[in-house]
Amino acid sequence: MNRRAFVLGAAGLAATMRPTRARAVPAPGLQRLALTNAHTGESFSGPYRDAKGPIASAMDDLSVFLRDFHCGEMIVIDVALLDFLVSVMEAAGAPRATVLSAYRTPETNAMLARTTFGVAEHSQHMYGRAIDFTLPVRLEETMLTARAMKRGGIGWYPQSNFIHLDSGPVRNWTLEGHGFQKLLLDLQRLIAQGGLGINGRGDLVTRKTGEKLSASARLAMHRLIARAAAAANLP
Ligand SMILES: [Zn+2]
Repeated sequence: MNRRAFVLGAAGLAATMRPTRARAVPAPGLQRLALTNAHTGESFSGPYRDAKGPIASAMDDLSVFLRDFHCGEMIVIDVALLDFLVSVMEAAGAPRATVLSAYRTPETNAMLARTTFGVAEHSQHMYGRAIDFTLPVRLEETMLTARAMKRGGIGWYPQSNFIHLDSGPVRNWTLEGHGFQKLLLDLQRLIAQGGLGINGRGDLVTRKTGEKLSASARLAMHRLIARAAAAANLP
């Protein structure tokens, strides 16, 4: 029985919009997964495991589907991660989830850690053991269900509306954002308007000269960040 479908681009979008049929109770060992990738528009739908274990061709497809979309590089995806995700989706009654981020090369992860609030430097994403996903409904309830399973790491990003799930050590965290996230949005707007840039090493620089910010500008920035951190109750 092989009804796996790996659909690219616009066809993937069409597959996403197809009404979901009720699923039959899976045979022992058979596990299926239906995912859409928010960045590439691709979708994966079908079994990835049967009574004999992980299905090699499906695991290959999932390596492609969950690749680092910044550079196209792939890794073997941990099947325990997929099993955990399926359990969570089943408990939530979610037939399909949308993937925001899965595999990240060390380079991509370092870039994100420099520029994105809440990205860990030693992320499980670099080992094919983590996935950031969202659901259209009951996301917070789903996060609580996932934490109660104690099968890995669960990060909750309520402001960004996604759950980080990994097959690493059991741990939980929540990133509220609030004031700090607003400050980052303000900074991003400033950067977009051309006033500030970020150089290759992740330093804030003035766009005109490419030089690092002056001491007084850095001080003003630190004050802003301290205020936002206080507002967000960050340590
Ligand atoms: Zn993550």
